[in-house]
Amino acid sequence: MLAIDIITKKKYKQELSQKEIQFMVDGYTNGSIPDYQMSAFLMAIYFNSMTNPEATFLAMAMRDSGGIFDLSGIKGVKVDKHSTGGVGDKVTLILAPLVAYLGASLAKMSGRGLGHTGGTVDKLEAIPGFKTELSFAEFQQQVNQIGCAVVGQSGDVAPADKKIYALRDVTSTVDSIPLIAASIMSKKLASGADAIVLDVKVGSGAFMKSVDEAKKLAELMVSIGRLAGKHMCAILTSMDEPLGHKIGNALEVYESVETLLGKGSKDLVEIVSVITGYLLMDAKIVDTYEKGYKLASSTLASGKAYPKFLEFVKAQGGDISIFDNLEKLISGTKLDYIYATKDGYIESFNTLDFGQAALYLGAGRMTKDDVLDLKVGLDLHKKIGDKVKKGEKLITIYHNDKGLEDCKELLEKAINIGDTKKEAVLIFDIIR
Ligand code: URA
Repeated sequence: MLAIDIITKKKYKQELSQKEIQFMVDGYTNGSIPDYQMSAFLMAIYFNSMTNPEATFLAMAMRDSGGIFDLSGIKGVKVDKHSTGGVGDKVTLILAPLVAYLGASLAKMSGRGLGHTGGTVDKLEAIPGFKTELSFAEFQQQVNQIGCAVVGQSGDVAPADKKIYALRDVTSTVDSIPLIAASIMSKKLASGADAIVLDVKVGSGAFMKSVDEAKKLAELMVSIGRLAGKHMCAILTSMDEPLGHKIGNALEVYESVETLLGKGSKDLVEIVSVITGYLLMDAKIVDTYEKGYKLASSTLASGKAYPKFLEFVKAQGGDISIFDNLEKLISGTKLDYIYATKDGYIESFNTLDFGQAALYLGAGRMTKDDVLDLKVGLDLHKKIGDKVKKGEKLITIYHNDKGLEDCKELLEKAINIGDTKKEAVLIFDIIR
């Protein structure tokens, strides 16, 4: 087999076999296929796309390039969720203890943030002492004991995806639906869960700007997961505004605790409840989605899953005394504000700019070696459809001087106030 023949086939839109895709992935990972041939191959995929079987073979070849977590030592159905990346997306912090409290097992590997989207691992590290690296034995034991564990992505998971993703990043081939689907699913399949709910973000703060594109991506990921024998579900949710109110690592821990204590914002509570509803059904804890949803939302409202959150934090070495006074999470930061420039209603946000503004403060990283300031970020006081008065505080900025002017300049342009009261759509579609 020759790489040039496989590239040529894709150039002429012919369907590739599993062996041909495996050959390209293995060859690139072991160094026998050079960057220039893999780049040409990726660009051919970018323009000519892939069939569902091709994307599935690509995901499986990348999955098989490294270790696959064997979760058979964990009792019951193992559940997982994945978000394609949003601003203010703190769902995992709330959902992990919630599903564990309700009797399912969540064994989750999460990533760090890059660019405008935050990462769960960074957020958890805003809790003093919290360890996101556990041995596999510790990870397994913790899930068996308390029902959940969240760790950083092991270096051994889908190394082919890591290498190919780095190449895509510099060859303008990231935004291809089959490449994104195969990349995400290679890691999900290697993580070993039985049931996975995907939260595919759509809108100004997401990779996918339209519902149509997001639906194609979601359907392809669901199909790849099913072909690999997993229970799959995808929900298409809005990133036309940040999720909840707070953006930034410690601030998102703060909001997660409030949500677990029954004081969560409507959009955040809804998304956590929908995802939990499907996971509880797949874990056979309830027999219908509706029962799962109701159980999740009533548990959040009652604050009953909060002790499970404390148990989870303690099990991973975190200091739970910080939660006696949530302000301690962000102590020492300085405050600044963005004010409404006129009377009216919040009509829209540029969500990407909110992520970027938090990045300027040091809440996120531009390159993977950047050091974060875990306490800085934004607290958004208004959501789409809310009435505002000229001079009213719209955003509190928690900062340590770094990037403040750039942050404010961006935020001032990221909020549109108009005369119409718009209704924000939260969930566009659910694919089962
Ligand atoms: N996230 C991934 O893991 N891979 C992609 O290609 C895009 C987003």
